[in-house]
Amino acid sequence: MAGAMTELMCAKCGGLADGWKCAICGSEALQHDSNHLHVGSDRYCTLKCAQCEEADVLCTCVG
Ligand SMILES: [Zn+2]
Ligand SMILES: [Zn+2]
Ligand SMILES: [Zn+2]
Repeated sequence: MAGAMTELMCAKCGGLADGWKCAICGSEALQHDSNHLHVGSDRYCTLKCAQCEEADVLCTCVG
């Protein structure tokens, strides 16, 4: 499926997401890394908001 693009959307503002970013340490990834975990938190590798470039749970694009 060459050229097939997955439409990723920021869970917070509903805008486009651009890759993935850890909400805890800020490390970025091109693909979701389900092994990237932080002890004591359920927030780890999440979508990166394309507008503010923050992890979607930290997106500041909406109120
Ligand atoms: Zn957003
Ligand atoms: Zn991390
Ligand atoms: Zn944002």
